[in-house]
Amino acid sequence: MTSNRIETDALIVGAGPCGIFQVFELGLLGIKTHIVDSMNNVGGQCAELYPDKPIYDIPGIPMCLAQELVDNLMEQIAPFGAEFHLGEEVTIVQPDGDEFDIETSAGTQFRTKTVFLAGGVGSFQPRKIRLEGIEKHEEKTLFYRVRDPKRFEGKNIVILGGGDSALDWVLELQPKAASMTIVHRREEYRGAPASVEKMKALINKGAMRELIGKVTDYSASDSSITGVTVTPKDGSEPVDIDCDYLLVFWGLAPQLGPIANWGLDLNRKTVNVDTEKFETNIPGIYAIGDINYYPGKKKLILSGFHEAALAAFAAKSRIEPEKKVHLQYTTTSPLMHKRLGIEE
Ligand code: FAD
Repeated sequence: MTSNRIETDALIVGAGPCGIFQVFELGLLGIKTHIVDSMNNVGGQCAELYPDKPIYDIPGIPMCLAQELVDNLMEQIAPFGAEFHLGEEVTIVQPDGDEFDIETSAGTQFRTKTVFLAGGVGSFQPRKIRLEGIEKHEEKTLFYRVRDPKRFEGKNIVILGGGDSALDWVLELQPKAASMTIVHRREEYRGAPASVEKMKALINKGAMRELIGKVTDYSASDSSITGVTVTPKDGSEPVDIDCDYLLVFWGLAPQLGPIANWGLDLNRKTVNVDTEKFETNIPGIYAIGDINYYPGKKKLILSGFHEAALAAFAAKSRIEPEKKVHLQYTTTSPLMHKRLGIEE
């Protein structure tokens, strides 16, 4: 490990609602955190899968939208100055003595005393197109996310998908593309009606093409995809389309991913923990929220909040074994107020 690695007391893997609340519980005990998520935004399933849906079972909040819950949690942890590392997947967790060496997909390295797994149902990965050998074109002429829109200017683009990401990128890239084709497996689109309307207008005036069917083959030179074959849904003859870039937006699927390789005691796609500390089989690694399993576990946000509180107390005793940890109320404790940044 290099010398520019980050030293910390606590590292949280996953910035879903439970990972965010873990920051709060550790913060109350005076422990500063770093938090890593493979997504570019915080909020886990709430933000990714159902931001506009109402939640009714958060204690004390009769109803809030999932994204509102995430926003409120972020406001609640603001006093603790946690450092976020978004768009990075934690790939390596290596115990070394009493501490852990951690590395992310972006090469960020940490040395931490405790690890909190809050990875939910795993890190969200794009659903990939399965055609023989096509993976070697990834990040060259086949993309699952757009980082550099300029690359597509003046090019022939085929976009696969029917949700918001597919439609947004069709509308964004079409004006500067040499040609744009959308391929979707059925007539109905899942994306916002306003986007569908805008796209249909482009199709109607001949500014882009729409094919309803499946990509069943592709052609390529050594280094580039040069075209795709679409088999139409209506059973008509396959259509060949030339393209410079193929962009696939078929949504995201959670995968346990690297967590499976860290020597943890797994129970299918979850990690076994005790119910006193929510500690895994590796001392110093705690697991909270949807990722953990114990008899009676319920995958609910409120369960993860409780687990985060107890895991924080356990970690405090590990980080500062010489200090006795007292339970203090946020209502009345001057120390809690100080940590929360509340003026007395
Ligand atoms: P998640 O929200 O899954 O977040 C985990 C995060 O960890 C993700 O962002 C992921 O990218 C990241 N991650 C995973 N592995 C890595 C890695 N190796 N490196 C970096 N990052 C990683 N619950 C309720 O209590 N009430 C409800 O009404 C409710 N409604 C729901 C409705 C729907 C449609 C769905 C799908 C779920 C609902 N849930 C509800 C369940 C609730 O969303 C989950 O219990 C909650 O999101 C779990 O939070 P979490 O923080 O444990 O994990």
